[in-house]
Amino acid sequence: MHEIADNFRDIKERVARAAFRAGRNPEEITIIAVTKNQTIDTIREGIQAGINIIGENRVQELVDKYEALENQVQWHFIGHLQTNKVKYVIDKVHLIHSLDRLSLAEEIERRGERKKLSVNALVQVNVSGEESKYGLPPEELIPFLEKVSDRCKNINIKGLMTIAPYVADPEETRPFFRCLRELAEEVKERNIAGVKMDFLSMGMTNDFEVAVEEGANMVRIGRAIFNTTQEWRKGNG
Ligand SMILES: *Cc1c(COP(=O)(O)O)cnc(C)c1O
Repeated sequence: MHEIADNFRDIKERVARAAFRAGRNPEEITIIAVTKNQTIDTIREGIQAGINIIGENRVQELVDKYEALENQVQWHFIGHLQTNKVKYVIDKVHLIHSLDRLSLAEEIERRGERKKLSVNALVQVNVSGEESKYGLPPEELIPFLEKVSDRCKNINIKGLMTIAPYVADPEETRPFFRCLRELAEEVKERNIAGVKMDFLSMGMTNDFEVAVEEGANMVRIGRAIFNTTQEWRKGNG
């Protein structure tokens, strides 16, 4: 009955233990409950259990759920964002985790300008180099940030996001998370106008503890909270 509440409590404990192992304060780590494929009733149950930040990876699902739940939770967009769909999410989301190309930044800028909105975004980096993954190659990150800083005054870059490869042993993901943290350090040293590195969004059900040990302060967790399978990965690596 209270499965979601139990799961959520368990995740919070595991995040806290991983934080302590790394000498970090667990309170600096935000858990984003990933609700793709979950019904509104299930999300309501999650809200009862204390979930207050929701991650969605499809525009239509976010829009439908937003209509039902509005500001009961904070909305994050975590999936691949098509340029022509920016207009549907831009005034609903607190943070876009998946900025990965200039054409998308320019569309967010255009829509933000029109609605007088300042849009918070993380840049998605493909640190593993897997071809199936979205995200900028690491070597393109700094030039990309310089262009966004220059051209997109309505976008606040707040940090970086990555999706690690899906592997049986989560320990194998560690180098990728470390790489993202090091990239963020490198960016900080550049002091690019309008670019902050406050957030590292990394770690999912399979690997969030390793991500926290490596410095994640946003983890995106779906299956471990909602007890679902990993079917989605088939079409959405
Ligand atoms: C689905 C998804 C997650 C959550 O994955 P789980 O394995 O269910 O925890 C995190 N990030 C993104 C971008 C996703 O699409």
